[in-house]
Amino acid sequence: VDSGIQASEKIFPPVLLYHKVTSVPELGITRTTSAGFRRQMQFLLEKGYKLHSLSGLADISEEASDEPNSSIKHIGLTFDDAYSSVYKNAFDVLSEFGFSATVFVPVNYIGRRNDWDPGRFMMKFDHMGKGELKEWISAGNEVGCHSASHQHLSLVSKMDRYSEIEGAGRRLEDLTGSKVNWFAPPFGWYDRHVLDTVQEAGYYGTAILRKRKTTVCPPELTLLERRTVYLADSFSMLQAKIDSGSSLYNIEQIRLGLIQAGSWGTVAVQALKQQKEKLYKSG
Ligand SMILES: [Zn+2]
Repeated sequence: VDSGIQASEKIFPPVLLYHKVTSVPELGITRTTSAGFRRQMQFLLEKGYKLHSLSGLADISEEASDEPNSSIKHIGLTFDDAYSSVYKNAFDVLSEFGFSATVFVPVNYIGRRNDWDPGRFMMKFDHMGKGELKEWISAGNEVGCHSASHQHLSLVSKMDRYSEIEGAGRRLEDLTGSKVNWFAPPFGWYDRHVLDTVQEAGYYGTAILRKRKTTVCPPELTLLERRTVYLADSFSMLQAKIDSGSSLYNIEQIRLGLIQAGSWGTVAVQALKQQKEKLYKSG
């Protein structure tokens, strides 16, 4: 089985992950300021990078052999949670620079404020609405599915897992009139059950954070790692995430792994709390 998995694994260029693009301060470290985002895109453009949605990137990877202009470095660009701030502060920048991106949508929250991300001064954030998502797609961008309710998928029943993965994807397709090829699990957390369900639902691939060495991916499914951009990242750290020739590359990969391990600890505690609250409420 092992060799089959290796053989079918597609080679993907690096993929960046952003969340909010806003200058409104908050406790989270996954925010990028509006001006900072523009500067980062400008920096990548000047370094010869072209940023693509995941499906755009998959097309390019398949055509890579007859690419005439090899000086362009193609990488992927994604935004998790489909915050309105991405529409307000990143959309125009992408169009201006000729880039595209995939935004991962928690489908129950389309056009609504979030309540799944509590505790940060009780701040709530708007999500893109149906019209904004359609406009996003019309401009050459992509939407992916980020579950229905943004729950930690280790805590949902088997039936709910289907509605969070397959049902949510179908609803997103109906709503936008556009094919949904990619699923990104909330908090980047997955196990074999999640991957099997994603594959059975007919997705092309799953976009995660870091791969778990102990979880084997079904051979038909593409499992894609992404590198999170943090508020404090400098240009050299941004480049270290995507350029294996950078002297900081190995350090940055280790740092990304450590931050994820830390955030999974926090997420596990939050998830347990939520589950306890549910138990109390249901009696
Ligand atoms: Zn998320």
